[in-house]
Amino acid sequence: MIPVQFDYLAPTSVEEALAALAEHGDDAKLIAGGQSLLPVLRMRLNAPEVVIDLGGIAGLRGIREDGDALVIGAMTTHHDVLNDPLVKEHALLIVRAEHQLADAQIRHRGTFGGALAHADPAGDLGAPALALGAEFVITGPGGSRTVPADEFFVDLFETAIGEGELLTEIRVPKFTGWGAHYEKFVRVAHQWPIVAVAAAVKVDGGTITEARVGLTNMGSTPIRARAVEAALVGQPATEDAVGTAAALATEGTNPPSDLNGAADYRSHLAQVLTRRAVLAAAGA
Ligand SMILES: Cc1cc2nc3c(=O)[nH]c(=O)nc-3n(C[C@H](O)[C@H](O)[C@H](O)COP(=O)(O)OP(=O)(O)OC[C@H]3O[C@@H](n4cnc5c(N)ncnc54)[C@H](O)[C@@H]3O)c2cc1C
Repeated sequence: MIPVQFDYLAPTSVEEALAALAEHGDDAKLIAGGQSLLPVLRMRLNAPEVVIDLGGIAGLRGIREDGDALVIGAMTTHHDVLNDPLVKEHALLIVRAEHQLADAQIRHRGTFGGALAHADPAGDLGAPALALGAEFVITGPGGSRTVPADEFFVDLFETAIGEGELLTEIRVPKFTGWGAHYEKFVRVAHQWPIVAVAAAVKVDGGTITEARVGLTNMGSTPIRARAVEAALVGQPATEDAVGTAAALATEGTNPPSDLNGAADYRSHLAQVLTRRAVLAAAGA
């Protein structure tokens, strides 16, 4: 199918984009890389009268350091995030997840901010962003506000971005020197995970001293596995100790049942993948 006819606007600044949003309200839809929106439009699941393309706003692209954080522009492509030396040095977990997100073609078009704004519970970037305590800069007519990751993801395909606002930057605290791994379980290569686990750990002399763990597709939003994190601290990075902590991965989850797997199957996967992700992150 082809999309319903729409008008196309191409602002060159955030102010112009906000003005277009204010003018067209509910009739407008933002487009970033189009990798999720275009299929939706083609299936006519959404039929905006106006599409506002963020692709011409140069200020929304790029990655920079700001003290203890990395700042990733919302329109930075997955490809650019994946290949950025700063991200590799300070937020390795994001590189590990980006490496497994879709395929090279989609990573060249799709954007970091678009994927997070889309908030697909099976999306690969939510769990790493949550685990690392990222902050989301949302800009609207009244200026910008910063929302922590645990308040950004509200529900299935729903975020804290309000009407007339757009996501402009994602601030990721630096986790320099931490080990990281993203363990993704898929039925078909280059696809969304049935379940995935994002793990970052700090290891000192074979002992895990700090841990961050996020779960993908174990509920309507990404979930932080805080019970696992607490149980890992002070433990040796061994199969047994990590396996005991990983058994807590289902705490606070509400996994869906669908054609790819029943909820209890996903719960089992979460425990297995958490053990694998943490051991790999710890280099064990
Ligand atoms: C075949 C295929 C396989 C894929 N596999 C995976 C996968 O394995 N893992 C994965 O995580 N993803 C996967 N994706 C999705 C991909 O990651 C997309 O890049 C991403 O979901 C959307 O990013 P985008 O820049 O293309 O956003 P778009 O499709 O342009 O927009 C998505 C939504 O976000 C909104 N939006 C975009 N930018 C902003 C903004 N700055 N502020 C507010 N709202 C905004 C749009 O209005 C729209 O509702 C796949 C896509 C395809 C087509």
